[in-house]
Amino acid sequence: PARGMEVLRVEHAVKQFGGLRAVNDVSFTVNAGEIVGLIGPNGAGKSTMFNLVTGVSPATSGAVTVLGRAAGRLPARTIHRLGLSRTFQHVKQFSELSLLENAMMGGYARARAGMLGSLLHLERREEAALQQAALAQLERVGLRDRAFDLAGNLALGQQRLLEIARALVADPAFLLLDEPAAGLRYGEKAELAALLRKLREEGVTILIVEHDMDLVMGLVDRLVVMNGGQELAQGSPREVRANAAVREAYLGA
Ligand code: ADP
Ligand code: MG
Repeated sequence: PARGMEVLRVEHAVKQFGGLRAVNDVSFTVNAGEIVGLIGPNGAGKSTMFNLVTGVSPATSGAVTVLGRAAGRLPARTIHRLGLSRTFQHVKQFSELSLLENAMMGGYARARAGMLGSLLHLERREEAALQQAALAQLERVGLRDRAFDLAGNLALGQQRLLEIARALVADPAFLLLDEPAAGLRYGEKAELAALLRKLREEGVTILIVEHDMDLVMGLVDRLVVMNGGQELAQGSPREVRANAAVREAYLGA
């Protein structure tokens, strides 16, 4: 998508789980080339919002348009093939596979007929190209020298970086990150911020859920604040920091 075009439009989105409205009338947009932060206390509905955007679960009501398509009407893999990749708050790795194999997983779905079909039918040349892409992304997140180590041997922070590498192997236009800095050491956080800025420069659009306010405020163009399923505020980091309702609900002070 060209810079400034809408990559995501969420309009009056509601997600109901039994008697609970995990997302309750939330509206916001994300434009191409932006980093937008989605913040708020635990239980605010941030991860649920990610599931609406990625097509994992349809909204109860309202509209979610991602990369020009209606998210609730398409299977998640179709949205992924359109150019959306994500990482999970609770990291998901194949611990008995190498970092390289884990990173390569990120490329199969967009390569051909889905992961299993691709594993069976990928030509040797494609396999080699995918391996190169995976090594390049491992290099980017600082894990290249551990490419042949098992993912199960990684510390939590490194597992998060591996997830990002895997997401990047799909060459996404739109990247959703759910608490990517949780468990990262100070230096790793700085490297993560630098990587995300670089990706923005390259034109990747990013929606990030993150609790580390120093990291978020220094990185994002705009913020959407949720609380109890509802949208509490939107604006620049400066506007959101100054917002009394946000300070009371989330930022303290
Ligand atoms: P956040 O990511 O902001 O911490 P979540 O989106 O994970 O918040 O959760 C928002 C609310 O929705 C919480 O009260 C959570 O328990 C509830 N919730 C999330 N997913 C489900 C689900 N699949 N079924 C029932 N309740 C859910
Ligand atoms: Mg969450």
